[in-house]
Amino acid sequence: MIIDFHAHLCDLNKDFDGLILNTGYSDACNHAIPKRGVFALGIAPQYAESFKPEWLAYIESQKPPAIGEIGLDGKYWHPRQMELLRLQLDIAEKLSVPIVVHSRMAEEKLFGVLLKRHWRLPVIFHFYSGPEDLAERIITELDGYISFPPRFSARRRRLAARLPLTRMVIESDCPYVGEDPTATEKVKAEIAQLRGIDPTDVEQTLVSTWQRLFGKGVLK
Ligand SMILES: [Zn+2]
Repeated sequence: MIIDFHAHLCDLNKDFDGLILNTGYSDACNHAIPKRGVFALGIAPQYAESFKPEWLAYIESQKPPAIGEIGLDGKYWHPRQMELLRLQLDIAEKLSVPIVVHSRMAEEKLFGVLLKRHWRLPVIFHFYSGPEDLAERIITELDGYISFPPRFSARRRRLAARLPLTRMVIESDCPYVGEDPTATEKVKAEIAQLRGIDPTDVEQTLVSTWQRLFGKGVLK
């Protein structure tokens, strides 16, 4: 079964069966997401300079089962990123739903924002590329999950081998990293191999995590 905790189906003219978190990043993408199954709506930090209040009003009006992707991007920094993040954290709190965060070159900073806010809702660190000790703090000090894309560095392999499986999720980030949600198959296989367990054990844990975060919703 395909399990993908971060896909942008708004940019793929194709349907997939499985557990797929269809994730928005722009106002156009948010409007293109089918309002069924499990989806997250959000404005990514790259849009901080130009975002409009009505983009956020739309997100709130849809009552999505998750907010994302939102966050901070150190590579394309703009001072309004913090404001855009805070406004969307407010929406997630109002709706009491998990968040999916983008944290490129800003992992510590984002972790700090959440800690300071005493963040209690589940948070998925999409495409986590930060330090290993911070990954542990995300898991122990927040209700945090580390998401693994179909790209394995030495550090990511070490993390995949030793973090608690119940705190790990997998993603394609398609069509930008993986071609489509099936790219998560190789992530699942890699994690299984690194831990010396069967891919079906990885899958079972991922299904439980999915159910804990999103209930039984399946995107068909
Ligand atoms: Zn993405």
